[in-house]
Amino acid sequence: MKILVLNCGSSSIKYQLFDMQSNSVLAKGLAQRVGQTGSTIDFRKGNDGKKDVYTMDIPDHKVGIQKIFDLLTDKQTGVVKSLSELDAVGHRIVHGGDKFAHSVLITEEVKNAIKDCIHFAPLHNPPNLKGVEAIEAIMPDIRQVAVFDTSFHQTMAPEAYIYGIPYRFYRDKKIRRYGFHGTSHRYVARRAAELLGKALEECKLITVHLGNGCSVCAVDKGKSVDTSMGHTPLEGLVMGTRCGDMDPALILHLMKDENLSVAEMDNLLNKSSGVLGISEISSDLRDLEEGWPNKSEKANLALDVYSHRIKKYIGAYMAVLNGCDAIIWTAGVGENSPIVRSIVHKNMDWFGIKLDLDKNEVTWRGAEGDITTPDSKVKVLVIPTNEELIIAQDTMEIISN
Ligand code: ADP
Repeated sequence: MKILVLNCGSSSIKYQLFDMQSNSVLAKGLAQRVGQTGSTIDFRKGNDGKKDVYTMDIPDHKVGIQKIFDLLTDKQTGVVKSLSELDAVGHRIVHGGDKFAHSVLITEEVKNAIKDCIHFAPLHNPPNLKGVEAIEAIMPDIRQVAVFDTSFHQTMAPEAYIYGIPYRFYRDKKIRRYGFHGTSHRYVARRAAELLGKALEECKLITVHLGNGCSVCAVDKGKSVDTSMGHTPLEGLVMGTRCGDMDPALILHLMKDENLSVAEMDNLLNKSSGVLGISEISSDLRDLEEGWPNKSEKANLALDVYSHRIKKYIGAYMAVLNGCDAIIWTAGVGENSPIVRSIVHKNMDWFGIKLDLDKNEVTWRGAEGDITTPDSKVKVLVIPTNEELIIAQDTMEIISN
């Protein structure tokens, strides 16, 4: 069975074609600058093949997907003879509101429900839908599955998702915590249980996803019971350019004091804050870590604030879970930053966490493993995330039933 996984953003299309029998990636890549000038498509055979980059006109998502299909079926360089070899397409859909606790086969009704959630994720759900509609136009008979970032967190109880504001906002407008990165938290939690040699239903886990966006999740018996991102992906950890938790009164104060519009404030909190805002250097942790701890005071401050917030959430989720078997680090920073991991886990021996500093220093890119000493009661694991695989597996399961 061959399944195509698509993640359509406003100006990008990430794709991966899986062969589910061998659980392998046949080809993958990324179309960039869709709808802009200078559009390109990267194409790589297999998981680690050489990356070829093609420059071409891609005015919209439909053309982009058609060009990706041309590359996949190319007589010389392609990986399938024709599109008829594809069994289904799985889509990453960012927001399913409280309507979807699981992945689903895409129908008209599902599409309408995704549209109903556009006001929750105005930047993400519309391009996600464009991908679905482009496939409908190109391959009208193929089955499509929606895998939501929010689904995994639908198991949270009201005490974790209700905000301390008048209840009518939840009742009338569904304003509540939804949480994001669910596919990643789900994947690494499952994988952690395998590495621990325990059933997922017996594990208490804290999963830390640190990419450009960052979130922590408390996972009890395989279910999300709390997570740091909220109604939108702005809440929680300090991120590359997003502020995370802060005193909400400050927003009112700054808007008044600096005479900022709603759009300007939105931009400040989402695009100019986080480690970029604090360091005044970069949103990319690599730039702040270069030469650490001697780079600059502001780079150190940004790293310390970033790490302190993660430590705080780990402590909070240990309380929520009443203990913890393992803490899992994943995504760009989580997988690749020994510095952040060492700052966060310093002085956590009271909690039963003892980092093995040598193991932590190893570059884990693409590898997974335990970075604690043998007597550490709580294990700390590095596990590369694989959201695409989860999307492909959910898609296979749904179309097989
Ligand atoms: P996205 O959230 O867009 O999926 P990733 O999970 O790939 O992104 O994470 C991207 C971030 O990972 C970059 O902004 C960078 O800060 C961080 N990163 C990547 N490699 C390293 C590294 N070697 N050391 C520290 N941070 C890294």
